[in-house]
Parts: sequence; C-alpha cells; structure tokens
Amino acid sequence: MPLPADLHMHTPLCRHAAGEPVDYARHAVKLGLTEIGFSDHSPMPRDDFDDWRMFDRQLDEYVAKVRLAQKTFPQLTIRLALEVDYLPGHEDWIRKLAARHPWDYFIGSVHYVGESWDIDNPAKLSEWKKRDAFEVWSAYFERLTMAAESKLFEIIGHADLPKKFGIRPAQDCTPLYEKFLDATAKAGCAIELNTAGLRKDCKEIYPGRDFLELACRKHVPITFGSDAHAPEEVGMNFAEAVALARSVGYTETCRFDQRRREFLKL
Ligand SMILES: [Zn+2]
Ligand SMILES: [Zn+2]
Repeated sequence: MPLPADLHMHTPLCRHAAGEPVDYARHAVKLGLTEIGFSDHSPMPRDDFDDWRMFDRQLDEYVAKVRLAQKTFPQLTIRLALEVDYLPGHEDWIRKLAARHPWDYFIGSVHYVGESWDIDNPAKLSEWKKRDAFEVWSAYFERLTMAAESKLFEIIGHADLPKKFGIRPAQDCTPLYEKFLDATAKAGCAIELNTAGLRKDCKEIYPGRDFLELACRKHVPITFGSDAHAPEEVGMNFAEAVALARSVGYTETCRFDQRRREFLKL
C-alpha cells in the first residue's frame, strides 16, 4: 500500500521554511509518494500582523511556485492549498481568500488564543508560565470548535497543538475534545494526523492516541501531513502515523480536489 498523501507543507514565502516547492516535490517522488499538497501560512488582513507568513501581495507568487512544481513533476499529484489561521471575526477575509484562486482545500488552524499570543511560538514560551494551562487549552479548543463550525475549512490542522512544548493541564481535557469532534463531524470536516509533533518537545503526533480514538468513534475523517518546513521533512514518520490511525480503527483517509472530498483505502 503506498503512503497516503502528504497534505501539509510550507514554502520559503512564510519566512521560516527552507526549499522551493520543486525541492519538496522532488523529495516526495524519491519517497514514492503519489500525492502532496502545499498549504503555506496564508496572508492576514494586515501584513504586519506577525512575521511568520507570506505577505498578501505574494499570494500569486505562491500559486506560481506550486504550479511550477506541478509542471516539473507531472507524475506527482500536487494540490494547491493554504493553512489558514482561524481567528473569530476573520470569516469574511477567509471567504475572500477562497475566491482568489482555485484551491483544492483549506487547512484551518488555530495558533492564536487571543489577539496576539500564538501559543506555539517558541519566542513566546514565557507566556505559558503566566497562565493556567487548562485555561489556555480551553480557550484554544473553543476557537478550534468555532473553526470547525465555520465550514470554511476541509481539514482542521494539528488539533491538539497546545501540547507542543509538553505543558499539559492536570485536568481531563476529554470534554474539550468531545465538543470539538462533535462539531467537526457535524460540519463534515476532517482532521489531520500531523507528524511534526514528533519533532517537538511533546514527541507525539498531533493529535494523540486518546483523541484519535474518540475521533474514529465519531466518524471524523482523517488526512496526513508532515507540516514540512524543509524538503527532507516531506512524508516524515508517515509509516508511524498510518500505524497509529489503523490501530485506533481507521480504514480510510481522504483527499481533496477543488474542495471536493474523496475517500481512499488506508
Ligand atoms: Zn510554519
Ligand atoms: Zn500550523
């Protein structure tokens, strides 16, 4: 069985990734992958919002880079997508982004729990010390649930991202997961198994096993993503991710073409 599509990877336009889309595609071909998707960090309504995404004026350049990779590697299916930050109030902006190019899918991610704290930013790790972990997780999952309910996204990204630095609340987070997964199932949205977590302090795929078991029980579809920020990270730890998905009961994965979903055997 070939490895599933790697639907989450970045480009240097986001200012914290290395290698051109053609380099990512070359690595995918080397690994024997048959499908990948670029999902770089989308522009914000204001270019000075933060410093880890493409500028609005670079959106066409981004699409051109992905098109060049498609042309260079016709044997590989290469999807055009974005990882879009969900912030309450940004819905119209996200709809406008969606209308600008023929995207295959949007990954909706929550990195910001307030207006200015991106909880996965290592430069802001000290913020975690000022706050109660359960309050942060609760605020995060409240937004993630809203992201699913918005129906603006085909896939929800790295669903248990707050575990990145290994800071976990003492409280049971199952009710937060349940509420999010119920909304996700109802909205017809997928979640991704994101292997980048294995490369972080938490040393675990996003989301963890308990979370994924719940997701499977609630029939929430899955995709796979390396969240590669360098060409050699494409497809990284995919065998482990597939084994995890199968072990909790998943038998299929999905992919997207022009924002339409198709299921594939896992
Ligand atoms: Zn990134
Ligand atoms: Zn992300």
